[in-house]
Amino acid sequence: MEAGRPPLHLVIVGGGTAGWMAANLFAAAWPRNRVRITLVESPDIGIIGVGEGSTPLLRKFFADLGIEERDWMPRCNATYKLNIRFRGWSGKPGCASYSHPFPTQLDVHTSRAFYVNCLTRRLGLDVETSPDLFNLNAVLAAARKGPHAAENFPFTVQYGYHFDSGLLGAFLRERACGNGVVHEQALVERVERAENGDLRALHTRCGRVVAGDFFVDCTGFASLLAQQALGVGFRPFAENLFNDRAVVMPTPHAEPFRPETRAVALSAGWCWHIPLTSRMGNGYVYSSSYLGPDAAETELRRQLGMLESEVPVRHLAMRVGQVERHWSHNCLALGLSGGFIEPLEATALHLVQVGIESFISHFDQGGFSADRREAYNQFMSNWFERVRDYIVAHYRMNTRGDTEYWRVNASNDRLSDALRQLLAVWFQRGDLAAELERQKAGTHFGVMSWHCLLAGYGSFPELAPNQPGSHKGDRYHELGLQDFLRRCAMNFKPLEECLPTAVTATDVA
Ligand SMILES: Cc1cc2nc3c(=O)[nH]c(=O)nc-3n(C[C@H](O)[C@H](O)[C@H](O)COP(=O)(O)OP(=O)(O)OC[C@H]3O[C@@H](n4cnc5c(N)ncnc54)[C@H](O)[C@@H]3O)c2cc1C
Repeated sequence: MEAGRPPLHLVIVGGGTAGWMAANLFAAAWPRNRVRITLVESPDIGIIGVGEGSTPLLRKFFADLGIEERDWMPRCNATYKLNIRFRGWSGKPGCASYSHPFPTQLDVHTSRAFYVNCLTRRLGLDVETSPDLFNLNAVLAAARKGPHAAENFPFTVQYGYHFDSGLLGAFLRERACGNGVVHEQALVERVERAENGDLRALHTRCGRVVAGDFFVDCTGFASLLAQQALGVGFRPFAENLFNDRAVVMPTPHAEPFRPETRAVALSAGWCWHIPLTSRMGNGYVYSSSYLGPDAAETELRRQLGMLESEVPVRHLAMRVGQVERHWSHNCLALGLSGGFIEPLEATALHLVQVGIESFISHFDQGGFSADRREAYNQFMSNWFERVRDYIVAHYRMNTRGDTEYWRVNASNDRLSDALRQLLAVWFQRGDLAAELERQKAGTHFGVMSWHCLLAGYGSFPELAPNQPGSHKGDRYHELGLQDFLRRCAMNFKPLEECLPTAVTATDVA
């Protein structure tokens, strides 16, 4: 910062998870004499209040802020997430369910065998290809183990979290305000622009004017600054992601829970089951072109065994797609205001974090230059598209065929070139890793994720006739991976022993 120059005023609008994540990371990145941060939110509008599953990237978020699990997890009723279990997405025999695990350091001992077996199976030979058999996290989740091993076990596993998004927002708000972020509770009614088109100030219902140098739009689907005030266009993904509604209902725990999200295919979408320490979070994500809200609610209640229950549900509309420019003029669109790829694989907060981190790094390198803005927009747009492709593949590869929704999804050919090419490589028995490398797409969902999806669905050609009936050429059996993973799992503690408990005054003393 130049000497004597006043600090830049950065104004965040929106106090959902996106707004408070941004406030915390910005406050940690820049000293107050360089960047002054105000967050304006309307208590009348409220937050979306869903979004209870994360990827492992959220661990970095807390680590970067110096926040320990025991500080935040008990306050947010948080649990660990080792994988997502997909159930009912494929009609192929033996594919009723599969695990999409987060990676572990141990994968180096099992992933090669998984890839080789998948190739062998793509050639028509009968070998083991269930992702559950090759991945430690799947084994741990099935055994209700947590992600922490004994000290003398030298491998770590990746994991994410499940949490109450309302409580997480409150925790992050407290933290940000403690680090100098100014919190204004007010409804923004009008956005004032300067002659050059930039945003200049916010006018609130109570008559306050909040001027700023840079604005971050975290106003959720309203996208008050980016889409409404600046007129940034929105590119819907509706042609290959049909889901546009959700119905949400919490339930008490019915049984001991596993450290995993369950994603269960229903008649016109899918239902999530997310274990918090206090309850289960559940929701049915569906397409309103194929199912009405009442029918969706009934189907969700039936799925939960709560048909007769009076527990109220919440109905939500979702806008799936992304803005044409995530950074336009002096405004960054973050969170739902910048785009959303539906909740399958729980990528929204991951994208928020990637967006914040990337903005900090672009800003530090070049401030508000047009070059930086363009580079950022290219980067974010690419992230959204690559994540979208992976999500689309879940629908495109389904073999359920029991409803119109699933049949139309299975025959949908409006795929990106990148996705089309990946699927072609798989079915032509090519090298998926090399194709991902060529597309530079491995950082979004890597080769392991793609193998889990395609093998988990049983997306293979017919078996060759007259198989020898031995395990010859089956790396799973030849390497004794079942026993290897079973013994690795013995080093991990039961889930309950891993979950941190709140720090008490006695602990501190
Ligand atoms: C059904 C569903 C399931 C999801 N599941 C997951 C998941 O498992 N994992 C995941 O990572 N993400 C998930 N998401 C996405 C996740 O919920 C959001 O990314 C996350 O909550 C961030 O939301 P947000 O902060 O962008 O918006 P919101 O939470 O909607 O917050 C918007 C904020 O803007 C403020 N605001 C709006 N207009 C004004 C105004 N005029 N003046 C002042 N303030 C204003 C509101 O008061 C509020 O504070 C899910 C989303 C949906 C719809």
